[in-house]
Amino acid sequence: MSFKNIKKDFPILEQKVNGKNLVYLDSAATTQKPKEVINSLNNYYKETNSNIHRGVHTLSQKATEKYEKARVMIANFIDATSSKEIIFVRGATEAVNLVASSYVKPLLMENDEIIISQMEHHANIVPWQMVCEEKKAKLKIIPIDENGELIINKFNELINKKTKFISLNHVSNSLGTINPIKKIIHIAHQKNIKIMIDGAQAVQHLEISMKDIDADFYCFSGHKMYAPTGIGILYGKKELLEQMPPYQGGGDMIKSVTFEKTTYNDIPNRFEAGTPNISGAIALGKAIEYINKIGISNINKHEEDLLNYATSKLKKINKVKIIGEAKEKAAVISFIIEGIHPHDIGTIMDSHGIAIRAGHHCTQPIMDFYNVPATARASFAIYNTKEDVDELVKAIEKCIKVFA
Ligand code: PLP
Repeated sequence: MSFKNIKKDFPILEQKVNGKNLVYLDSAATTQKPKEVINSLNNYYKETNSNIHRGVHTLSQKATEKYEKARVMIANFIDATSSKEIIFVRGATEAVNLVASSYVKPLLMENDEIIISQMEHHANIVPWQMVCEEKKAKLKIIPIDENGELIINKFNELINKKTKFISLNHVSNSLGTINPIKKIIHIAHQKNIKIMIDGAQAVQHLEISMKDIDADFYCFSGHKMYAPTGIGILYGKKELLEQMPPYQGGGDMIKSVTFEKTTYNDIPNRFEAGTPNISGAIALGKAIEYINKIGISNINKHEEDLLNYATSKLKKINKVKIIGEAKEKAAVISFIIEGIHPHDIGTIMDSHGIAIRAGHHCTQPIMDFYNVPATARASFAIYNTKEDVDELVKAIEKCIKVFA
């Protein structure tokens, strides 16, 4: 499979930035969108736009059909048992908040414990802090080692009778670490504890099967997998979703409403109050079609090659230090350069037309662990090439000269 021409599928990548060909290395923040996805949004508003579920007219039925077809495609993509287990949300952040509020909060008592890890995105920290504060429960943290890997022995030690829930990321957005989630889920289930996996940085890189990993909840954001912003997925096991109260009230999530009593709709509609992001859901379906056309295992192999190539090149540059060297990594490289603030690195890269991210990447506890204020981060996707890595390396070398 050749990845040479894939850039042409992404119109935004044709432009120049600061007079240079754009090299986009910020896909962990958000990926660019292929023509199919952009056309899907355009066509939806030109041909199908209508509200779903409530209309008998043709456009409404068409919109409903496409929206529900997207749900089935997503269920197949992550190998869920049923499309009823797929809830459309705004993104991974909303999914974590939904589970914290509708599943965990009702079962949490004073002094109970929730386990997360030191490498979580703020989206998988703050909702748990909020729920713990409200219920006077405690947050326990699995530490990481210097390589940026979870210390599994410490995880085993943290689990006890008070542990009510675990929520961990599949892939770290700052370090690229791929966590052994199947093993972790198995450990949790042996102790009868339910577990959520934040897959925001995983689904676009790895083949994933809900049936295989057996996660109780799993979530991700469309915009990190070639779809638009404002659409994401919460997967939940049917038997868990069915016992959960709604997250928000409003239209479409009810069966009947009187002023005395409201009865709620079945899943998944119970968790989709109000008019959803219909065009976004349909475009997410298109993004999945696009990924499937290329093949997730081909994508994985291509990105792994880029990661290995970039890692070996960066390691050869004096003064560059890679942060996060786990054995299993997705195509994300955080690095620092001795004597240069990451924000200055980011600005200089931009002057060369190279988009990288500089900052704490919404993972401040990781920055504290490595005792750095921030890192520069290059993250790769299907449209990147070895030439992009060469441009990055050249620009880093120039950057070091400027500050020498
Ligand atoms: N979890 C991880 C690992 C992430 O990388 C991100 C975004 O960077 C999120 C959660 C939050 O995703 P969103 O902002 O799309 O809700």
